[in-house]
Amino acid sequence: MTGTSTEPFDPTADPSHRTRRGGDDPLDLLGVDAGLDETEVLLRDTVRAFVDDRVLPDIATWFEHGTIPDGLGLELGKLGLLGMNLHGYGCAGTSAVAYGLACAELEAGDSGIRSFVSVQGSLSMFPIWMFGSEDQKRQWLPPMAAGEVIGCFGLTEPDSGSDPGSMRTRARRDGDDWIIDGTKMWITNGGIADVAVVWARADAPESSGGRGPIHGFIVPTDTPGFTANPVPPKLSLRASVTSELVLDGVRVPESNRLPGVESMRGPLSCLNEARYGILWGATGAARACYEAARSYAIDRVQFDRPIAGFQLTQRKLVEMAVAVNKSRLVALHIGRRKDAGEATTAQISFGKMDNVRSALAVAREARSVLGANGITLEYPVIRHANNLESVYTYEGTNEVHTLVLGEAITGISAFT
Ligand SMILES: Cc1cc2nc3c(=O)[nH]c(=O)nc-3n(C[C@H](O)[C@H](O)[C@H](O)COP(=O)(O)OP(=O)(O)OC[C@H]3O[C@@H](n4cnc5c(N)ncnc54)[C@H](O)[C@@H]3O)c2cc1C
Repeated sequence: MTGTSTEPFDPTADPSHRTRRGGDDPLDLLGVDAGLDETEVLLRDTVRAFVDDRVLPDIATWFEHGTIPDGLGLELGKLGLLGMNLHGYGCAGTSAVAYGLACAELEAGDSGIRSFVSVQGSLSMFPIWMFGSEDQKRQWLPPMAAGEVIGCFGLTEPDSGSDPGSMRTRARRDGDDWIIDGTKMWITNGGIADVAVVWARADAPESSGGRGPIHGFIVPTDTPGFTANPVPPKLSLRASVTSELVLDGVRVPESNRLPGVESMRGPLSCLNEARYGILWGATGAARACYEAARSYAIDRVQFDRPIAGFQLTQRKLVEMAVAVNKSRLVALHIGRRKDAGEATTAQISFGKMDNVRSALAVAREARSVLGANGITLEYPVIRHANNLESVYTYEGTNEVHTLVLGEAITGISAFT
């Protein structure tokens, strides 16, 4: 307003006073997509097309048989999705938001496929990129980005899950080598990996309590003494290989130790990267369940009308729509913070905790909308619901992230 105009004030002339009726996209109620730039939209659509062509037609079979196809890593590498937000060494060097969008699309296919990409990029390549020597980066990162070398990340142990600092795996110096002994549990890609990033505690003199620093080691999986065994049959994340790793006197040279970190900061910073991908990924699984429930409810007729016309069903669909749209907004916000170098650990925990629990709630609600069909592999819903049980637990359980946030808002740690 000029203050001198003789024109009557028209509030609708200012777009901020206008709202539109109609035209709402059921999958993008809040218009979150409008916050993406052209490159991001292109990348999202490319990954979505890959998932439509390559994952969705077969995922129910892979899930049922507990397999993933050989060569999937090469296909993902060709698309530039492995270690995609790392710079140099054959990696695509995208933004964090672009990486997040890819995770969402992959997990709309299946959490197992997103897990493959997260473990390769955020848990296996990232520690080498962040803490490795120049020689280690040059040797390992280009073939890993191409999917020619598959990695895994060994932190969890049978008796050391939420409290990884209590690990029992030990590394003992022997001349120019290290000898590693221990067992790692629940390791994604363990049985198909060419290389494992293994975290172990160095031996220390009794006088210092016997607990030395934590080191990360690059362990080729054909090293004598290294074996990968299947875990007990699982009913979640079936399209993903999960293994126990046994290290029995595994000898690696000092040149295989990651020189850039000697504490829990090493594995924890990798987990932070992976959790960031998960907080996006969960939005994809939730979207797939909501989409399946919405279209099923519109088609399915009972009592002579689509079940989408019943108020109770509409309420379920609305709760799902709100959860899906809110979690996408949270993901994009945290992604922009991360690209600005401002994302905090508590913000990543916020996203991982809330987006995964809300995706799980969406999946369970969607299951009820599909009635009996909802328990079959013909529809994606029960598969996503089962997968999300793992996602709820790995990379920091829901409870662990609650306590991280609890510390952030009270200043008091509940862990110690
Ligand atoms: C499919 C799958 C794939 C995985 N992939 C990998 C991988 O690639 N690499 C890897 O290293 N690990 C991997 N993990 C392991 C995963 O990170 C652990 O399962 C997770 O950290 C939890 O550890 P836990 O299962 O031993 O549970 P526990 O730590 O024993 O927890 C059991 C329960 O106790 C709760 N609890 C524990 N401590 C507290 C506390 N202080 N306060 C309140 N509640 C608490 C937990 O929240 C949980 O509800 C994977 C797990 C799964 C299921």
